[in-house]
Amino acid sequence: AKSLGKRNYQFYAPHMTHEAVRRASIERQMRIALEEGGFAVEYQPKVSVSNGRLIGVEALVRFKPTDGRPPISPVEFIPIAEESGLIVPLGRWVLEEACRQNKAWQDAGYLPLQVSVNVSAAQFRSGNFADLVHNALKSTGLSPAYLDLEITETTVMQNFEYAIKLMRQLQGLGVSVSIDDFGTGSSSLSKLKLFSADTLKIDRSFIRDLPDDRDDAAITCAIIDLARNLNQRVIAEGVETKEQFAFLQEHGCDEVQGFYFSAPLPAEKFESMYARQW
Ligand code: C2E
Ligand code: CA
Ligand code: CA
Ligand code: CA
Repeated sequence: AKSLGKRNYQFYAPHMTHEAVRRASIERQMRIALEEGGFAVEYQPKVSVSNGRLIGVEALVRFKPTDGRPPISPVEFIPIAEESGLIVPLGRWVLEEACRQNKAWQDAGYLPLQVSVNVSAAQFRSGNFADLVHNALKSTGLSPAYLDLEITETTVMQNFEYAIKLMRQLQGLGVSVSIDDFGTGSSSLSKLKLFSADTLKIDRSFIRDLPDDRDDAAITCAIIDLARNLNQRVIAEGVETKEQFAFLQEHGCDEVQGFYFSAPLPAEKFESMYARQW
């Protein structure tokens, strides 16, 4: 390949599949976006089941290609960022942006919320992750009590020794940790107890067919009980209907998140929607 400066690095080998060409193109667009501010963060409300109040937000990264093509989903670009190593600078940017925004809301006089930031496996293993978190808190002035890190169950269980070590460091900083996509990653109960997360987040796949699917209803109830017995909080993601919400309320889930309450929103839109009740 011949490089004509970053923007023109477009030479693809003839044997590359359509898929490989698309991935290479996304990677190149991401490098440019990282330098030129082409990423944004959206915020999705987390709601307390007991009183319906807004208690937190999940930060979700967005990437809009500047060339007019349709937006690319994080489901597609996050794995490419992981494989290319771009997740390290991208993840750092999301963490800092989410902390900065949350602090700005507090400074504007809104009730303090906890912001949850997703941590990818590559970021998690990058060696100095706790330093990165410490620096983001320090540079933005956000109190650690208002930062939560979402780490998937698979990431935790596949790197268990390291996960425990990191968990101690993070809890030492005063931030909280949630296990994301819970129920999909084959935890052992003894490991789960050792890891001692603050929150279990029930994977969307178990919520989707509630309340009719008896297996999913049983799994959801089992996770809620497990969290209660381990003295952890439990949140359900992907709540889309009144019936799903009613089921979760009836069975003692602490928090809910999903389109039934709100889609993820750009910061200004979130602020204008929630300013009154917040
Ligand atoms: P996730 O962490 O499980 O995030 C939840 C996803 O579900 C988000 O998709 C959110 O928009 C979507 N969602 C929320 N409510 C509902 C609902 O009621 N129904 C349905 N069907 N979906 C709902 P999104 O934003 O496309 O993100 C997809 C995944 O990409 C995330 O899954 C996460 O794994 C990853 N991701 C997103 N932002 C970041 C980030 O900043 N860093 C890292 N490392 N990963 C991220
Ligand atoms: Ca998440
Ligand atoms: Ca999830
Ligand atoms: Ca089922």
